[in-house]
Amino acid sequence: MDTYPKGHPNITIEKIGGRDKRRQELETAVKATSQPGAFQSLDEHFFGTEYKAGTKKCNFPISLVTYEALIPDPKPDGQKVEKATYLILEPQFEWNKKWLTYTFEKPEKANKGFRLASEPDTYANTQYFYCLSYQAAHTKIYSKMYVANKSGTYAKLTDKDVWETFHVMKCNEIIDDQTDYNDHCQVMHGITPAEMTAEDNIMVNAALPLKLSDAMNILSLGTGDHDNILQDWFNKLVASGIVIKSTNKNSSDIQINRSKEMLTEIIRVTEGPFNTRLQLELQKRETVRGDLKYGFSCKWSDIEACFYAALGKDQAVDRHNSFFKDQYSLGGNTMEFIISEVATTVERCFGKSKTNLYRLGKMYEIVHVIANNIPNEYRVMKDHIQQKASDALEDIETAKTIPEFMEQLTLDFEAKNRSKDYKKVVIPAHKKNNMAANNTDIKEKAISVTGW
Ligand SMILES: [Zn+2]
Repeated sequence: MDTYPKGHPNITIEKIGGRDKRRQELETAVKATSQPGAFQSLDEHFFGTEYKAGTKKCNFPISLVTYEALIPDPKPDGQKVEKATYLILEPQFEWNKKWLTYTFEKPEKANKGFRLASEPDTYANTQYFYCLSYQAAHTKIYSKMYVANKSGTYAKLTDKDVWETFHVMKCNEIIDDQTDYNDHCQVMHGITPAEMTAEDNIMVNAALPLKLSDAMNILSLGTGDHDNILQDWFNKLVASGIVIKSTNKNSSDIQINRSKEMLTEIIRVTEGPFNTRLQLELQKRETVRGDLKYGFSCKWSDIEACFYAALGKDQAVDRHNSFFKDQYSLGGNTMEFIISEVATTVERCFGKSKTNLYRLGKMYEIVHVIANNIPNEYRVMKDHIQQKASDALEDIETAKTIPEFMEQLTLDFEAKNRSKDYKKVVIPAHKKNNMAANNTDIKEKAISVTGW
């Protein structure tokens, strides 16, 4: 679902439950900040701050970000800048539009039906509101607001001195009127329920044999794909009557008389190491009753738990996978900005260690490759950046850090009278054909290796 869970390296994410007192504190803090932009149009709409049991509550995710800063001067203690909290609106809106669906609550009662954002249980990741959306994690809108707002008092404050803490939770605003809820969704979540995709209402046909899609590469896929495969299995199991859908997805029952059919089909479409582990996980799980060879009963939550256990889900593997896929895709910005993003992107994946030279080498490698996209009319900038990146790669033990490298580039381009190219010209994103060439190399090497 394009999200980061709590525990992701370099991103501090706090989960806020429905009854958590910090909801009230966050409301006070956000209102004190009174950020410009969409926030100013919220009127009386906001997220729920008091938990009322037995009411219908808004299912959209809410993310907030708190900034604080320490300016290194004057040494040795520096100067602390007070915190400010922002409600992440526009970037979160993009995620909401892409991922969430709507449903009718009690549609059989003509006048009582509500069109609402779907219940969390209906999504592949039922805990999506405890994750941070990719868009919210990467936005610079609010850090810029923070620096701009504080720089009046703290002239030396720069974005390098700032650190961030995210808070994630479910909106939980109480819903009792469709028109009011539509307004709430529009200003608070960027989309009304009617504009979203309708939640799948699966037709059940118990005579339907189960047929799952090929998932032979399951072990090499990323988290997002795994969630989608599992959701697809769930839908198909419901459609063929093997899983009886209940209001709570996790407690839906697997039919004992067709459990063998389900397992056989999973084994058919997945690779051996995965399905062997899956069977071991099912066998050792207490809530799975019966025998895998003949028939067993369990809840959907058991299948889900065993599925993830069988993947041997190592967060690092996922993280590296998505990094290697995206590493050269930075672009569409000035070279100065791209280089600073390179450092952030590498640190996000590999951490901030200053002694691990792989990280620094990786940064210079990416800078070198991306500089290749610089159009030829800015040849001076292109050659200079590639030369300096090469120098750094040749002697990585003594190479500058990226912030130092950037300072040097600023001076170099000023001396060459090319600052405008470096700071203002937008460099396009990576050309696809280079990546294709790299991939072919890897494939050919893989084929030529023998004796494995
Ligand atoms: Zn809401």
